[in-house]
Amino acid sequence: MNIPYLDLKRITAQHGEEIQRAVAEVVSSGWYLQGEAVKRFEANYAKYIGTKHCVGVGNGLDALTLTLRAYMELGKIDEGAEVLVPANTYIATVLAITENGLKPVFVDVDEDTLEMNIEKAITERTQALMMVHLYGRCVYNESIAQLCRDRGTLIIEDNAQAHGCIYRGKHTGALGDVGCHSFYPGKNLGALGDGGAITTDDEELAQMVRTLSNYGFAKKYVANYKGRNSRLDEVQAAVLDVKLKYLDDDNRRRKALAHIYYGNIKQGVVWLPKMIDDESNVYHIFPVFTEKRKELQAFLNERGIQTLIHYPIPPHKQQCYAEWNNISMPVSERLAKEELSIPLNQTMTNEEAEYIAETINTFTK
Ligand SMILES: *Cc1c(COP(=O)(O)O)cnc(C)c1O
Repeated sequence: MNIPYLDLKRITAQHGEEIQRAVAEVVSSGWYLQGEAVKRFEANYAKYIGTKHCVGVGNGLDALTLTLRAYMELGKIDEGAEVLVPANTYIATVLAITENGLKPVFVDVDEDTLEMNIEKAITERTQALMMVHLYGRCVYNESIAQLCRDRGTLIIEDNAQAHGCIYRGKHTGALGDVGCHSFYPGKNLGALGDGGAITTDDEELAQMVRTLSNYGFAKKYVANYKGRNSRLDEVQAAVLDVKLKYLDDDNRRRKALAHIYYGNIKQGVVWLPKMIDDESNVYHIFPVFTEKRKELQAFLNERGIQTLIHYPIPPHKQQCYAEWNNISMPVSERLAKEELSIPLNQTMTNEEAEYIAETINTFTK
């Protein structure tokens, strides 16, 4: 067998004709930015997530960065304030904080649940918490939410990997004060290029993000803020609108494959994160962990199974963040050393997943 980590051609082809038609409509409309397709997708996505508002932006990093900027312009986050962020995340979550001159306070995660333990990290100076549903696992819980509510700390969800994930009847992206979404092609809800959005019930925030993403214009050519240009375009919005209809089906298929992995992979040389409630995990990434990562990756590669690593260097160990290189986040650092992502997407067959699980079980080094 030959199983690529991700074959986007195959994924797009699932609804190829419908996507081609949607793109063709935008092409022939002559209207490519800030038009009906974006408006329609924003309405549909807000309804899906369960928030009053959705604002499309250029990408996931901008969704995060503009959200923090908007809270600063609205006086809800002060210059230089502390923002809690899991040490086990993609670098974009941290870049959004530092780009705004805010101070990231890294929090290590629990090895079994991958949730943050914020009790010791939250202080008087903490004004926001970045809650990252990494790998598609919901990490929202009542004790974190209560702690934040008691202290007036804003909860900003990084939902880039968790479209469609549910916690107690509510979608991630609607659990905190605001949800930030990426539609990078490889995500569970992916465009044919870059795209992003924020979802929130807070009208003032939604308006401010819209303003900041459009040159800071409060109305046409009146710049009340130093904004930027970060827009979701009509082609991407039209594509996303098609794919949104199939997101729940796609996620159900991902879960079925994940069950094959959980049911068949023997733990020992490799270990898996604790399985959580099915609706709370949309399995954007299926991570297996092992001290023999290099060997396992080569072993699988020789047997036709392509894998990736998410992510080899945690943000606080990156060269661009030299000032934090010496802090110690033992769990996150271990995860970064041991993580290996095996293929999982809605176009895979049960046989492929079974073959991958069996192959992992024959790895004994
Ligand atoms: C992909 C991703 C982002 C960034 O999204 P882009 O659209 O690539 O800018 C942010 N956070 C997490 C957790 C991601 O996986």
